[in-house]
Amino acid sequence: MINVAIDGPAGAGKSTIARAAAGQLGFIYVDTGALYRAVALNAVRNNALEDNEKLVSMLDDTTVKLQFDESGNQCVILNGEDVSSLIRTPEISMGASKVSGVPAVRAFLLDLQREIAQNNNVIMDGRDIGTVVLPNADVKIFLTASPECRAERRFKELVEKGEKVTFGEVLADVNQRDYQDSHREIAPMKPCEDSVMADTTGNTLDESVEMIIKIIKGE
Ligand code: C5P
Repeated sequence: MINVAIDGPAGAGKSTIARAAAGQLGFIYVDTGALYRAVALNAVRNNALEDNEKLVSMLDDTTVKLQFDESGNQCVILNGEDVSSLIRTPEISMGASKVSGVPAVRAFLLDLQREIAQNNNVIMDGRDIGTVVLPNADVKIFLTASPECRAERRFKELVEKGEKVTFGEVLADVNQRDYQDSHREIAPMKPCEDSVMADTTGNTLDESVEMIIKIIKGE
């Protein structure tokens, strides 16, 4: 199986670029952020977001699964419910960043991610895929872009969905999540020694996809 790890900060375009590249290569695209988001949604529902003890015990009664349809689209299933669209809110983004710093949450989601990669050609995106989840991945890419460029993309997405946010709020969220994700004790977001760095600032989607495919093919 061919495993490609793509890590990098929020809004670098990882999911859009990785999904398009996976489509062209016939690989499955795995968005691991969705797993942390599903745990965060469950934590919000159980009033456990601010209470780590409660959060950890909640995991005993939590099941999270990923399903893929024939076109390779991913659905995230939380306790039997498809929560794929419910997890795409700013509240859950911040909640995911919070729960992802809890070691028990990371351990809870680890096997699921490895199992998918063992059985499929994948492009898996996240924060610690190259460092922790798939340290033996065939290709490791660290995808980034300037904070302003990333906030601009997130802002447009949220406005299109009808969320009432300002650019300043989105930029502040991006900076806060970068800080949280790269400063946590466990599995902090960082490039590996063998990562290829890819900066998408100012690129069109097509340019970024082409860049990633070239890296994967070793061209
Ligand atoms: O990628 P996305 O923005 O959906 O991820 C939501 C949050 O989940 C991130 O801010 C990060 O804290 C966490 N995450 C993680 N490890 C991953 C994927 C996501 O810690 N592999």
